[in-house]
Amino acid sequence: MPTYKAPLDDMRFVLNEVLSIAPTLSPIPDFSAIDDATIGQFLAEVAKLAEDVLFPLNASGDQEGCHHDRDARTVTTPKGFKEAYQQFCAAGLPGFACDPAYGGLGMPAVLNTALSEMFCSANMAFGMYPGLSHGAYNALHAYGTDEQKQKYLPKLVSGEWTGTMCLTEPQCGTDLGLVKTRAVKQADGSYKISGTKIFISAGEHDLAENIIHLVLAKIDAPDTPAGIKGISLFVVPKFIDGVRNPAFCGRIEEKMGIHANSTCELNFEEATGWLVGEAHKGMRAMFVMMNEARLGVGLQGLGLSEVAYQNAVAYAQDRRQGQPIDQKAESANAAAPAVPIIEHPDIRRELLTIRAQTEGSRMLAYWTALQLDLSHKAQSEGEKKKAKALLDFLTPIVKAHMTDNAVDHANAAMQVFGGHGYIREHGMEQYARDARITRTYEGTNAIQSLDLIGRKVLKENLLPKYLAAVDADIRTARAAGVLKRTTRRLRLRLIYETVKSKLGMGGDAGAVLRDAAGVSVDYLRLASLVAVGHMWLKMAAVATERLSENAAGREFYETKQQTAAFYFRRIMPQALALEYTLRDRADSLMAVPAAQFVHGQTTIAETSRKIEKEAKQQ
Ligand SMILES: Cc1cc2nc3c(=O)[nH]c(=O)nc-3n(C[C@H](O)[C@H](O)[C@H](O)COP(=O)(O)OP(=O)(O)OC[C@H]3O[C@@H](n4cnc5c(N)ncnc54)[C@H](O)[C@@H]3O)c2cc1C
Repeated sequence: MPTYKAPLDDMRFVLNEVLSIAPTLSPIPDFSAIDDATIGQFLAEVAKLAEDVLFPLNASGDQEGCHHDRDARTVTTPKGFKEAYQQFCAAGLPGFACDPAYGGLGMPAVLNTALSEMFCSANMAFGMYPGLSHGAYNALHAYGTDEQKQKYLPKLVSGEWTGTMCLTEPQCGTDLGLVKTRAVKQADGSYKISGTKIFISAGEHDLAENIIHLVLAKIDAPDTPAGIKGISLFVVPKFIDGVRNPAFCGRIEEKMGIHANSTCELNFEEATGWLVGEAHKGMRAMFVMMNEARLGVGLQGLGLSEVAYQNAVAYAQDRRQGQPIDQKAESANAAAPAVPIIEHPDIRRELLTIRAQTEGSRMLAYWTALQLDLSHKAQSEGEKKKAKALLDFLTPIVKAHMTDNAVDHANAAMQVFGGHGYIREHGMEQYARDARITRTYEGTNAIQSLDLIGRKVLKENLLPKYLAAVDADIRTARAAGVLKRTTRRLRLRLIYETVKSKLGMGGDAGAVLRDAAGVSVDYLRLASLVAVGHMWLKMAAVATERLSENAAGREFYETKQQTAAFYFRRIMPQALALEYTLRDRADSLMAVPAAQFVHGQTTIAETSRKIEKEAKQQ
């Protein structure tokens, strides 16, 4: 069976020593109570809940899954989930980072990020229930009327009610302009919502007494604009004043992983709902929820990478196979005991790759969440704007990089187990199954890359603001004598500038966009390598400083330096290959006509004719 221990030392290092959360945030009146001791206390308490309550339900929840009762139109979660959710709520965790005006604890997002990471490591399927509620809370907090806020927010904050986001329909995924769900206005100002949503996470369950669905629909009116400009957002509760609203689960979708989270087809059968924000401006409100959810999905990737790593290390220290490679060269000693596989260089490569990416990603996720706090609450408008630019630039990177990595890391960790990784009892195959969806939902990673290159770089020109932050840290690190050679070798800034100038050379606007779309995923990968490299620079600088001060915990800081060196020597050079790829722009992708993608040039029509002919001959 797998195990999980929250990586509290690393979390404290990032929060207290590198990001200096307490001195950074405590001058802000809303966060004046934040100090290192309080941070430590929260982390330790939540770690206990994650390790002792949520983690033990991870494998059993996966095996049991959720149950749909068609006749009663109810869904029950796996054994133990309801009780665990009650403990979660009793600890005040649904409202940890919520507005005290609605009963929340008012803690910063950056701390909430550390807590969420632990829930994702311990039990990702469980963490999705409160995770979606928090997204619904944010959208209503930003765009709800006062009445809506008073009605829904306190219950979402306490966890008595949960939330969902209902975007996807059978014909409508990435392109939300294709939404068919309709909203018909009633005399009292409410709407009747009709349509089918699919793949709705936490869509129906028994954890909470009510579920607040946030639903994208088009208002049935002649002036509703076509496509994405005609989308509105509605709040549709499962129960209204104790009466069941007709929004029912048609079925639970059978899926590859996260079996303990109910992914539902939801049928809205003239369900009553109310407009959130302005008519036809639903995407604006939904984006509040989606942007937060994107960071949340990145954390799922981080959490899974961490727990997969921990188990792979434990196995590699225990499992004995083969001789040390250097002894083999001298004289084969068949009688010598086999060594733990962690002694083999290739196992170290697997483990260090996960470790360097995961620790770097933790730092990146927390730094990004800090920008979220500062973008709302920093003391000057200038600081708020600066933080918002970094947040917007980094959000697609956090989402896509950490989830692409989670898939790779879960597989690498499974590989460390050899064939035993493929066997269910070790739990590694569950991580590989659970991780896979993170690349796809909340906007596939291809869509994240288009957001980065198309919106954040080309349209909003956020790159110079991001580079200014990177440059400042390079200067600090160099002044401290840290990583002089690696910063030079990396040419962090240069790599970016090369890419930017290449994209700028594309000719007319259409060609620039086509080229950008052609290289977007490679560009995001390159940006991610740089972003995590930047974080390693910050961490290595602090570690070097601590070592020069002879601070306690020498081994911890030395390992940080060694892991940083591994990142810069073995992972960062992948950026150079990506730089070459980017030069191709979209040319080689678009050269092949769509019809010629059919392998062996056999078309579907030809195959059908062949099958028909064979059938006739028999
Ligand atoms: C387990 C699970 C949970 C989910 N939870 C929710 C939820 O809670 N709420 C909700 O509303 N939805 C949810 N979803 C839906 C999820 O967000 C969508 O599946 C996802 O957004 C992709 O949409 P699609 O599946 O229709 O794929 P499509 O949009 O059909 O895309 C197919 C492929 O084409 C690519 N593609 C599409 N358009 C473009 C483009 N313009 N440029 C380049 N590539 C493109 C995509 O990247 C993808 O690879 C969930 C899905 C799953 C499987």
